[in-house]
Amino acid sequence: MYVVIRCPGCRTFTYVDRFQRWKLCPICGQAYEVARVPAYLEVGDHVEAEHIIRQLQQYLQKMKRKDLTPDEIEDLRRQYALLVKKKV
Ligand SMILES: [Zn+2]
Repeated sequence: MYVVIRCPGCRTFTYVDRFQRWKLCPICGQAYEVARVPAYLEVGDHVEAEHIIRQLQQYLQKMKRKDLTPDEIEDLRRQYALLVKKKV
């Protein structure tokens, strides 16, 4: 399992292994504790994590917004759960 998170320094979306405690941002160099930043979504593998990060970035860019609302994060989790169910 991987968790989609964002760097608290430069706001870049990234992902970490669920059991990883620290993340070093490759963009701005900030090291941060994974448990202290909001988790957007848990996904099964890193290919899915990269795919979702791309979609999130495109979405925010299109909407000219800086972050998702809590409702949108809920939606994202629901949609992902449905997607996983379909695949099984
Ligand atoms: Zn950063």
